[in-house]
Amino acid sequence: MCGVFGAYSPRPEPLLEDVYLGLYALQHRGQESAGVAWINGDGMAKTVKGMGLVHDALNQHELSQQETRVAIGHVRYSTAGGSLAANAQPLVATYARGPVGIAHNGNLTNGKAIAQYLESRGAIFQSTTDTEVIIHLMAHQAHKPPLEALIGALRRLVGAYSLAVLLEDRLVAARDPWGFRPLVLGKRGDVTYIASESCALDIVGAELIRDVEPGEIVVVDEKGIRSLRIPVEPKRHFGCAFEYVYFARPDSIIDGRSVYAVRKELGRLLAKGSPCPGANLVTGMPDSGTLAAMGYAEESSIAYEKAIVRNRYVGRTFIQPTQRVRDLGVRIKLNPVPHLMEGKDVVVVDDSIVRGTTAQRIVTLMRGCGARNVHLRIASPPVRFPCYYGIDTPVSEELAAARMDIEGLERQVGACSLAYLREEDLFEAIGRGRNDVCTACFSGHYLEGKEIDHDLDL
Ligand code: SF4
Repeated sequence: MCGVFGAYSPRPEPLLEDVYLGLYALQHRGQESAGVAWINGDGMAKTVKGMGLVHDALNQHELSQQETRVAIGHVRYSTAGGSLAANAQPLVATYARGPVGIAHNGNLTNGKAIAQYLESRGAIFQSTTDTEVIIHLMAHQAHKPPLEALIGALRRLVGAYSLAVLLEDRLVAARDPWGFRPLVLGKRGDVTYIASESCALDIVGAELIRDVEPGEIVVVDEKGIRSLRIPVEPKRHFGCAFEYVYFARPDSIIDGRSVYAVRKELGRLLAKGSPCPGANLVTGMPDSGTLAAMGYAEESSIAYEKAIVRNRYVGRTFIQPTQRVRDLGVRIKLNPVPHLMEGKDVVVVDDSIVRGTTAQRIVTLMRGCGARNVHLRIASPPVRFPCYYGIDTPVSEELAAARMDIEGLERQVGACSLAYLREEDLFEAIGRGRNDVCTACFSGHYLEGKEIDHDLDL
């Protein structure tokens, strides 16, 4: 997880305000740090970064005083490299060919191998993020013009990357050939935007033009918008299913599919595959289980209520870095509405079970409020495997569904019944075939070996 945003205007204007707003809309994708970078009037790359939420890390008033033609921004949630100020993005450097700034969403599966290779040739890394290898790969090709050096770097990367790049006075968007993470292009007048999700275009009043395609590089400069390809063999689309299930905002459209519509459909298909006769109330775990719960209720003709209230001022438990903070987060974050629970047979729909902490806690709370029976329905298949493509799912030993079977998990969380969405229903809701979407954290089917065989020689 991470969110990236970029803006290009043919003339200097206060673009950093747009970047600030865009990052605000992408806050759900990363809460550990936030930063912006831009090219100033002297052609120098400037950056401001800080730890915490966008409004803590950045000063909106100060940013709005700057005028520039090109700017990028990033909200971070660490997957590769720790939660450190040195790892906050955008990463900015000036190498032999000029300034470069990179904001990266994703995780490079060959990042360590490239870093070791470059270190053996004398490179000194400033951070522990995999993103820095892109800048070093460019610096090792200083004999080429910057755009060619960037393309030369990208063709050596394996894994997930959706990038917003400052390259001299150009804005560049790039999406890995598998299309793991989303990336979209937008326009407002003659200002061009790139963003992790379309919800960030809405906030600046920009219109969604299209997705950046897997394997595409989009260059925006004074000549207009150009589309190039990363020079590797085309790959099968491997877009992350979890973006639809949990990560993305429901008002976003990813690869042409509304996240809102997919989530409701997941709920409908869950109700068809795992009905709950006798239940008289459906509710959703706020917020990511809400839409699936509405779909479940509609399909099964059971009343829907917002019977679990979430404290809006607590961050997502899933992306807090330690178990202790996660436990505290669940305790202060969710509460059932007691009078809605009294004597009811309740179906609770959640998007997924990761460690099982939240599910167990909420079932206990609901029973404490008088619910007669609590049935848990999960709008995705069991998460049994870690993600290597930019989502910080725990190692298998910490994943509840990897440690025990469904009956064991049912007992552990204290639910009367527990059922998951079938894998084929996930494909149906997303509207893509089994081979066109990544479900590795459910199935264990990662990229095949031949797809990670790259020549590093520079
Ligand atoms: S492994 Fe899971 S979370 Fe990671 S990219 Fe694939 S579907 Fe998404």
